[in-house]
Amino acid sequence: MPLEESIRKHALKNALDYGKADAKSVVGKVLAEFPESKKDMKGTMQKIALEIAAVNSLTKIEVAKEVQKYEKEFAEIAQKKAESSGVQKIELPNAEQGKVVTRFPPEPSGYPHIGHAKAAWLDFEAARAYDGKMILRFDDTNPEKESQEFVVAITDGLGWLGIAHEPPTFTSDYMEAFYTYAYSMLENADAYVCTCPAEAVKKGRFEQKECACRSIGAAETIARWKGMHEGNMAEGSAIVRFKGSMTSPNTVMRDPTLFRIITASHYRQGKKYRVWPSYDFVAPIIDSLEGVTHAMRTKEYELRDELYFAILEKCGLRKPELVEFSRLSIKNAPISKRLITPLIEQKKVSGWDDIRLPTLKGLARRGILPEAIKTFVLSFGLSKVESEPGWDKLLDENKKLLEPVSPRRYFVQDPAFLMVRGAPGTIARIKNHPSNPGLGIREIGTDGKFMISKADAELLCVDDTFRLKELYNAKVIEKTPNGIVADFLGHDLIECKKIQWVAKEDSIPCEILVPHDLLLKDGGFNPSSLETQNGLCESSCKELSVGTILQFERYGFVRLDSISSAKLSVVFVAR
Ligand code: ATP
Ligand code: MG
Repeated sequence: MPLEESIRKHALKNALDYGKADAKSVVGKVLAEFPESKKDMKGTMQKIALEIAAVNSLTKIEVAKEVQKYEKEFAEIAQKKAESSGVQKIELPNAEQGKVVTRFPPEPSGYPHIGHAKAAWLDFEAARAYDGKMILRFDDTNPEKESQEFVVAITDGLGWLGIAHEPPTFTSDYMEAFYTYAYSMLENADAYVCTCPAEAVKKGRFEQKECACRSIGAAETIARWKGMHEGNMAEGSAIVRFKGSMTSPNTVMRDPTLFRIITASHYRQGKKYRVWPSYDFVAPIIDSLEGVTHAMRTKEYELRDELYFAILEKCGLRKPELVEFSRLSIKNAPISKRLITPLIEQKKVSGWDDIRLPTLKGLARRGILPEAIKTFVLSFGLSKVESEPGWDKLLDENKKLLEPVSPRRYFVQDPAFLMVRGAPGTIARIKNHPSNPGLGIREIGTDGKFMISKADAELLCVDDTFRLKELYNAKVIEKTPNGIVADFLGHDLIECKKIQWVAKEDSIPCEILVPHDLLLKDGGFNPSSLETQNGLCESSCKELSVGTILQFERYGFVRLDSISSAKLSVVFVAR
């Protein structure tokens, strides 16, 4: 490919991504491909300028059409980038191209969190790596905890992440099948109905002792099973137990519970059933019935593998491969519904979308992009290594995505007044992004009266020369309790301190919500987990739509959370 074509290719791609091609972005890519063109920088820059002008005169559609020629090449570059960023290729044991079926089986008992994102992305990418498919299955056999609200929240969460799936299936739709398998296990004495009090069951497991229910004959066992369904047995009065081994070194195998009585109404099945299967019973059967080839679950289930296969053996069902990976945990963050739900019930957080929560809703409000979550969770691959990263890795990934596309604005924290005497009425024309011309410019009228941040104000001393960024220079004459008085020094760019400002008459109060770790080191709630900072930002911020992620220069990225006539509320994203 000649140099000219390389220039055109990158100019086109740049125009496609950012609306307009920009020489600064193109030159680096061209030099990387043609290092020798560095020798004649002047000539190279001229060629680039020519192509940029040509490309910028094309319509969007023309650009898109021409870029298609290089589609494959750009896809490869993206792939390499993904690999170097740590996204690992997923390999499954005994997998056949085109035949892999995985499943993501959330229980609809809460809003999805970043741990679910890890499992879902691994399930999805594993299937994709083998041109297979992933089933979304709502694992809903506990009527006390589940609801339609959570089904919707999980479906929405997957959509937000960008995970495609077939219409979902529901474990509770398979109840008749579970009963049929249970019945034959009871008849074959592979399972029994135990009416011992819960305490006695626990004690028996600990002391490795069998109970009398275990050896009751089939006829009586079936009569008990029917009693469980017919409503003459109360909740907690009987359970179905698998006949494992009470002396097994694996405590999971000490006659685990397969069914229990729950009388609460189920969000889908109503009062149709009162005998509900346990996770241990349904998981292997439904995986097998649904044609799952590779059942992936987190490492803490490893001890349950033996039971998973024992149940399939007794039911005469096909055995999927079990694949385990490590559970995602992040320092001082509650990545589990078991930990999140009480925080919500006790109103320690504002709801499932509280910006301190690791829920997808919370992360979205906190300005974390789904692409960053994907890269972050997939970077661990199927490894079983337990690690406890902080938020940094995710936030860095997120920043990489935000940096080129977030509009800039000025914000001054804890504002202090600045008066520039002798300043001409000047309209500042400021680029919304230093290297992304597609984001345009903004114009701010000034009249010599400004607000600057308290931190900047404190650092300025009498006689100091400074520059109001993108505007003009001034010299401090006096510092008074009411603010700083300075003299206008001219527009020319000079070497001096540059500071952010807002025009006093063209600013709006802005509150920044800053999330901190929700949990303390000991796992308790951190009462200082939500901080509020205050300041002023340019009033043009009001024209951005809620949800926009922008960068307050020299402060950091923030996400616009709400706008009222009196103030803006934004959430801190990253430095
Ligand atoms: P939770 O503690 O949040 O209730 P769970 O495992 O009970 O977790 P489910 O809704 O049953 O939640 O989980 C659906 C899938 O998501 C399961 O395969 C589970 O292993 C996986 N998963 C849940 N939390 C994590 C996590 N922190 N890291 C990785 N995978 C997770
Ligand atoms: Mg669960």
